[in-house]
Amino acid sequence: MDCLFCRIASKKAAAKIIHEDDECIAFEDIAPQAPVHFLVVPKKHIATTLELKDGDEALIGHLYRVAGRIAQEKDIAVRGFRMVMNTNPEAGQSVYHIHLHVLGGRRMHWPPG
Ligand code: AMP
Repeated sequence: MDCLFCRIASKKAAAKIIHEDDECIAFEDIAPQAPVHFLVVPKKHIATTLELKDGDEALIGHLYRVAGRIAQEKDIAVRGFRMVMNTNPEAGQSVYHIHLHVLGGRRMHWPPG
């Protein structure tokens, strides 16, 4: 299996890493869609949100807590920010290893495009 985000998590591929712990890694998105745009990625390979299993609930909660802490550090938390996990092609998923997008630093549109 050749997964880009597994390679980043194991340091076989480069990324601008901003957080790492036993469960996840966070790094700057290579093609930012907002002034702040980073990804929070579990180290465990899970292809899409549809492959989540019993027992993964704490891991998903952890991703959100890490994302919120980094958003505070980056000073986008009070103004507001968006967290999103795209699932499958029509939602725009391009990397099949789940990741939480965190976007902020500008006004977000709703409904999203
Ligand atoms: P998605 O399209 O929801 O699967 O999101 C994948 C995200 O990964 C996109 O926003 C890409 O810009 C980002 N991305 C792809 N390759 C890299 C990379 N090598 N380092 C950082 N971000 C990446």
